[in-house]
Amino acid sequence: GLWGFLCVQQCNQTREWTTVEIELIEQIADHLSIALYQAQLLEQERRGRQELARSNQELEQFAYVASHDLQAPLQTISGYAQLLERRYKDRLDAKAEKFIDYIIEGTVRMQTLIRDLLQYSRVGRQGESFKLTNCNLVLAEAIANLHSAIRQSKAIITYSNLPTVMADDRQLVQLFQNLISNAIKYRSPEALRIEINAAKHQGEKWLFSVGDNGIGIDFKHAERIFIIFQRLHLPEEYPGTGIGLAICKKIVERHGGQIWVESELGRGSRFYFTLSDRQASN
Ligand code: ADP
Repeated sequence: GLWGFLCVQQCNQTREWTTVEIELIEQIADHLSIALYQAQLLEQERRGRQELARSNQELEQFAYVASHDLQAPLQTISGYAQLLERRYKDRLDAKAEKFIDYIIEGTVRMQTLIRDLLQYSRVGRQGESFKLTNCNLVLAEAIANLHSAIRQSKAIITYSNLPTVMADDRQLVQLFQNLISNAIKYRSPEALRIEINAAKHQGEKWLFSVGDNGIGIDFKHAERIFIIFQRLHLPEEYPGTGIGLAICKKIVERHGGQIWVESELGRGSRFYFTLSDRQASN
């Protein structure tokens, strides 16, 4: 907006500045320097955001290309290891066979990691545009997809009425599905109860939560678990590669929200995530 007028005039005689004038000029200088500084900060921030978006995109592209191109040589390794085992079986001793088994196991594990990395890179690359999404339907679909795991674990799932938000519905299904399947995987010997809620959060957001009464997480790992391939267990204890929560985080952040966990070891966990209530602001 218009802040004021400043007239500059060439004086034809030297003149004394009054205190009022000096103060005024000092004030103007202060305002100008603050304005300049703020403009510089804004520009820096804009550049930072651009740089971050660019580097994220580059990383995604890298993950995609790397994982895609890694598949072919890996296929060769596992194919020939299997051939070796089949064709030379009678000429190999037990030790050699064991070594070949290790090679095949290694390639299977690597194939899983590559598949997960590809899936992770797809969240940003193949995300769809946002549309009005009824989260009750999203949850119903996630539960339907997990039907047999839910039945086998005898999980009791309770949920409150969920809102309608602007979202990529397929990604929201994946988000709920990952959180619920974790609740099932990391259950304790107790009868499993899973609770899903949503409530208004700080005025313009929805706060969703998925809670369980499972094995829980030590709070010192509460942030680490959202990092790609970071997990707290050996594959022999609980299957998995540590991609599930990293994908959840990426989905939530793509929707402008945040995700975190509150948990106590042996007491269960509650995962929270926010989604903006864009329906209200539109
Ligand atoms: P994964 O299940 O393949 O390890 P995730 O990224 O889904 O990968 O989870 C990362 C880690 O977070 C898991 O290894 C587990 O230790 C912990 N975790 C996730 N969900 C739960 C939960 N509901 N209860 C206890 N621990 C959990």
